[in-house]
Amino acid sequence: MQKLFTTRFGGVSQVPFDSLNVGLHVNDNALHVKENRAILKKQLGVSNLVFMNQVHGDEVVVVSKGDEYPSCDALICAQEDIGLVVMVADCIPILFYDRVRHIIGVAHAGRAGSALHVGQKTIAKMQEVFGSKIEDMQVFMGPSIQKCCYEVGIEATVGLEKCLHVKHGRYFLDLQSANKEDFLALGIREEAIEISPICTCCDKDYFSYRRDKTTGRFCGVITL
Ligand SMILES: [Zn+2]
Repeated sequence: MQKLFTTRFGGVSQVPFDSLNVGLHVNDNALHVKENRAILKKQLGVSNLVFMNQVHGDEVVVVSKGDEYPSCDALICAQEDIGLVVMVADCIPILFYDRVRHIIGVAHAGRAGSALHVGQKTIAKMQEVFGSKIEDMQVFMGPSIQKCCYEVGIEATVGLEKCLHVKHGRYFLDLQSANKEDFLALGIREEAIEISPICTCCDKDYFSYRRDKTTGRFCGVITL
């Protein structure tokens, strides 16, 4: 298994997408984005990278061929030579690995996806389709906006009350904790859950929608 969270460096896109933007939907030059995706593919040494048309939902799609382009927010796969990609610029890129059956997964967990428990649903699908067991599961949450910067309006806290922090009358969400709690609730051991300490809004090595609005997307990738 190979996993990777990219930064904004190492690609060919120009300002404000500089430089390793992998998102085709952000109005960057499509040729640059394709070149960036090719750089990523070469770095991983896989024949196929599967991207999602991410819609802030909770659908999980099974990848088997490598040429899919589904509208969904999570992918699972048992094939070698396929990289599953989740694009982000503040949302949490979550990678999943069943180290016994060798199954991989990715999920896009922003505020909506987290409230819909897209991470739990990804694991449920791995269990249902591939017979994965909770005790064999490893979860990796990549760089994403953290509670230091993720201020929201009160209406955006519905369903996420457990990870809400109120400071001087302002509301901040801790989505990493919300997802961690979800995984612990399934019985995943604490030591099998890795959370990046990097806040994308604080750290300019990463694209951040909250900080920059017009910007690129970095990604989490996992492959067998
Ligand atoms: Zn921050």
